[in-house]
This record gives sequence, structure tokens and C-alpha cells, in this order.
Amino acid sequence: MPSKKNATPANPAPATEELEGPPPPEPVSPVQVLYCAVCSFPPEYCEFGSSLTRCKEWLKENYPDLYDKYYSENALTAKVGTLSLEAQTKLEKDTAKKEAKAEAKADAALKKKLASQITIKRIERNKRKHVTAIHGLDAFGVDLKKASKQFASKFATGSSVTKNLQGQDEVVVQGDVSDEIVDMIEAGVGVLKGIPVDNVEIVEEKKKKGGD
Ligand SMILES: [Zn+2]
Repeated sequence: MPSKKNATPANPAPATEELEGPPPPEPVSPVQVLYCAVCSFPPEYCEFGSSLTRCKEWLKENYPDLYDKYYSENALTAKVGTLSLEAQTKLEKDTAKKEAKAEAKADAALKKKLASQITIKRIERNKRKHVTAIHGLDAFGVDLKKASKQFASKFATGSSVTKNLQGQDEVVVQGDVSDEIVDMIEAGVGVLKGIPVDNVEIVEEKKKKGGD
């Protein structure tokens, strides 16, 4: 009896001549997909993002050929040729509106960052023992748990995310490492990348005032 006919009768088996196992991998094109560094879409989709002006600048600078392909007079004429003048104007207006909105949002975020302060507090627990509390990193988009881990391994000491008296999270590192942390912020080490050191302030918290 031919073994080919062994498939479930209700389910007419497709004529499979192939070998068992996973299908052979699709041939991979060696062409690398390009993504816009500004909006992270492929360049032909930049117009759907909210940063087209900056996208175009980036493309022009880095891929002038592509820029010509997408934004040269000819390309634009070909593209909008089918749109009515009214539709074109509306499209341009929409794009401008979207961009203005995105810019305003970025502006506000930047302002907030600039106004945010990171406080590194050197806290004296007793004559020999200090801890360092770092407050405000989260305003700069830093994951506090990651920062805590980074400090722990950098200083080979204990470090944790703790709520302060105001109920806000901050990173508390064992030992007096405030100057080193300022250095790390200045150097932009690991998760501390991009924090303006001007926004960092060191404060002292003595256990007792005038105790000397
Ligand atoms: Zn883009």
C-alpha cells in the first residue's frame, strides 16, 4: 500500500514533496534598511511623524541621494501632482501644526529638565559613617533602580532606592561618594548620560549642628 495515502482522509493532505522539518530560511536581502535618526521611521515615512523638518535636514546631510529621491522638486511634483491645490495646502498646514505641537512639547520637556535639580546629600549618620542620598535623577529620565545598581557596583557598596521624608524616591548609597557621583554625572557614565552637571547640587546634612 502506498504510504502517501496515510494522511487523515477528512483532510486532503497537500502534495508535499519537501523534506520534513522547518522550511528553508527565506533568502535574506543584503540591503540594510535605513531608519531616520530623528523619528526612527524609514525615511519614506518621515512625513507621518511630527518632526519632518528636522528629518529632512538629517536626510539631506547624511543621505543626499535619498533626500533628492524623496524631496526634490520633481519628486514632490510627482507625488502631490494628483492632489488638488486645496488638499496640498491642507497637507502642508497639517504638517506645520503637527511640528509646532511637537516642538512645543519638546520645549516644555526641556524647560522642565532645566528647572529640575538633582540634589546629592551627604548625610552624616555618625562620626565615621555617611550615606549619600541622590534625589531628582528621575526628572532626567534615569531609572532609579538601574542607577542604584550602577552605584553599588561602581563603589562596591550597598545602594538602594528609598522613599525620603517627602515620600519621593531617591537613591541612597552607603558611604560618602558625593564627589564621585558628581564626577560620574559629569562624565555621563552609564544611565547618568545626558544629565547637565549644572543642575547638580551637593548639600551637607550633619547629624548635629554645632556639635564640635
Ligand atoms: Zn524622520
